[in-house]
Amino acid sequence: MEIKTIGIVGAGQMGNGIAHVMALADYNVMLNDVSEDALSGAMDTMARNMDRQVSRGKISEAARDTGLSRITTTVALKDLGQSDLIIEAATERETVKQAIFEDLLPHLKPNTILTSNTSSISITRLASRTDRPEKFMGFHFMNPVPVMQLVELIRGIATDEETFVACKSVVDRLNKTAASAEDFPGFIVNRILMPMINEAVYTLYEGVGSVQSIDSSMRLGANHPMGPLELADFIGLDTCLAIMNVLHDGLADTKYRPCPLLTKYVEAGWLGRKTDRGFYDYRGEMPVPTR
Ligand code: NAD
Repeated sequence: MEIKTIGIVGAGQMGNGIAHVMALADYNVMLNDVSEDALSGAMDTMARNMDRQVSRGKISEAARDTGLSRITTTVALKDLGQSDLIIEAATERETVKQAIFEDLLPHLKPNTILTSNTSSISITRLASRTDRPEKFMGFHFMNPVPVMQLVELIRGIATDEETFVACKSVVDRLNKTAASAEDFPGFIVNRILMPMINEAVYTLYEGVGSVQSIDSSMRLGANHPMGPLELADFIGLDTCLAIMNVLHDGLADTKYRPCPLLTKYVEAGWLGRKTDRGFYDYRGEMPVPTR
């Protein structure tokens, strides 16, 4: 099945990044959000990000103009009815996602593929509540979408091969790399990355090292581009904690228990860069470790 039109639900951080890369790959994009402000904000962000790509010589001015013209925004979910592929990238709450698919289904063509960009909700469970679990899968982009190379493709228990192949061909057209993952908590990237970040927080909690010594150890000793605590601040400590809870609950293994110090930072509202304070304090000129 040829995919020409892609419907994206949710125009936040991820939704606008997904719309951006799809439009530059010559797909027609219908971008939906419940909020008009989110939609106009997404169009501004995409225009700004594409301008930056033009100034760095990554895309031409003509590609930017054609790309932006391929994106239509709408607050009416039913306008996504003619899409060949739906990518749901709305708020990470199961009831929200479930309601979106429920509202969308009556307007879709019978062979439209449904996907979700969820980081942690079971693909199999989301799929089971639709009329087409065999045409449902996880399409997990990394943040920021225009920059990050990887897309995890997650098959639910019922996903058929045709659906997988169609989604893989979209990833190929984006010039990104697909990694196939089974539908278990955290998929691949978060299953490996989050326990490492959590272990870094335990290392801090137990006094093995300071924020700075832990981050420089992993930067210089393991050649990571960012230290784990710096990275946790970038992702958001609330997001890190939520994913650890998903791993802990979903895999029922104590090795995934979230570090109490991570919980304490979240309780304090010190969520990392987005609140100007986490393992580092970002309020001054230079980030200063908070422990
Ligand atoms: P966000 O909060 O930036 O954006 C979510 C958007 O969804 C908002 O604009 C909101 O108005 C909209 N929305 C809420 N309910 C809706 C509805 N019923 N219909 C249409 N739109 C609705 O969130 P985000 O960071 O873009 O995350 C979106 C999804 O992507 C989540 O499932 C998240 O787990 C996943 N994800 C996030 C990241 C990340 O680093 N932020 C990475 C990979 C995957």
